[in-house]
Amino acid sequence: MLKYLLLAVSGFFLITLFGLFTPAVWHHWVTYPRLEKQVNEFQKLRKEPAPLTKLHTYRGALHVHSYWSHDSEGTLYDIIPAAKSAGVEFIFLTDHPRGNIDTLPRGYKGYYDGVLIEPGSEKQGFDTWSLDSVIINWNLDKDSIAKNIVSQGGIIFYAHTEEPHNWGNPDFQGMEIYNFHTDTKDESLTPQIINFIVNGNKYRHWALREMFDEQTSILALWDSLNTKRKIVGFSAEDTHENQNIRARYLKDGRVEWVGPNANVIDTMDVKFWNKWLFQQPDANGWVFKWMIDTYKEGFNYITNYILADTLSVPSLTHHLLKGHLYSAFKSLGDAKGFMYYSENQVDSISGILGDSVKMDQVKTLNAVSPLPGQFRLIHDGKTVNVTTSDNYQYAWSEPVEKGAYRIEMHIKLKGKYVPWIYSNPIYIY
Ligand SMILES: [Zn+2]
Repeated sequence: MLKYLLLAVSGFFLITLFGLFTPAVWHHWVTYPRLEKQVNEFQKLRKEPAPLTKLHTYRGALHVHSYWSHDSEGTLYDIIPAAKSAGVEFIFLTDHPRGNIDTLPRGYKGYYDGVLIEPGSEKQGFDTWSLDSVIINWNLDKDSIAKNIVSQGGIIFYAHTEEPHNWGNPDFQGMEIYNFHTDTKDESLTPQIINFIVNGNKYRHWALREMFDEQTSILALWDSLNTKRKIVGFSAEDTHENQNIRARYLKDGRVEWVGPNANVIDTMDVKFWNKWLFQQPDANGWVFKWMIDTYKEGFNYITNYILADTLSVPSLTHHLLKGHLYSAFKSLGDAKGFMYYSENQVDSISGILGDSVKMDQVKTLNAVSPLPGQFRLIHDGKTVNVTTSDNYQYAWSEPVEKGAYRIEMHIKLKGKYVPWIYSNPIYIY
């Protein structure tokens, strides 16, 4: 009797294990190599358009955490090489403040090996960069904090836009239209972890991508806010490099195990079994690392592109507030070179993404792209045109109405169109 029971239990166990691992193994041998091939073929079609304005395009990350946040251990040793390899030129940090009196600047600020870093905060549902030496009192109510920061020349954007906010507050200049962390909230943990165990080494970008869902309600909210006033849309990597298991030696010779959200799991003596797992310490002293989210893949997952004069905080923030920004899922294709603009009756550029343009100055709405794809024109939340021919150029010459017109570019992945670029609107008045 016991024999059969044991057999049944182990049989059930094996079937469950098989069921849990099969999708990940299938991804490893079938889905991801196919996707990899498809994306590599897609990259070969790249033709960077000639610049249409004097502005340069800079790639950057606008929602990133470093060691200053309680839930990250990230240092320059992690952030800078990751930024370099992902082609990210600026990083606007959004660290969780320590305590309620927050003195800025703090942490990293300036150019590090050519990568520009500006410190900022994420707290109480907003991303903020004060851009100056200020003291933020987080004990005040949200709207007063926002008012104080903006009146001193700083930036306030809505973070985590799946959550409730005071959407009517005119001090807020922008919002997250995609946040990777927001997107992961509907995933069940076990299959994702198994997928990283099997595919994390070779196909981390596809394993992260596995969690993607189009954020339709957030985009609809953005469109509806834009019918009332200009609200700049940007994308949030929200990377902490913290969904990981790591170990490092303490001064007393014991070893500290650090788990997800940079929480210490355990501190223990070094024995044969754990020593066997360790490697030479890296620059931060880690002797063991098993990683799910890394800065590199976070920066590559979704990237913001700002059209600006120079790679400097004044120029980038000036153009950021103008909405001279688009974002793209960079692991599908680098979108540098994309441009969305309007032309007037004599075929000169009358405005670019983020600009407000008088109706009689718009004969056509145009876009150019470094890679071919599907262009979707969205007017105040309503898709008014879809051009599906695999083209690098787009022009729409129907008479325009007042309102916000934005462009989305979609590309084909596994036979289905998926969003690739989100552009800020041109506001026609
Ligand atoms: Zn965050």
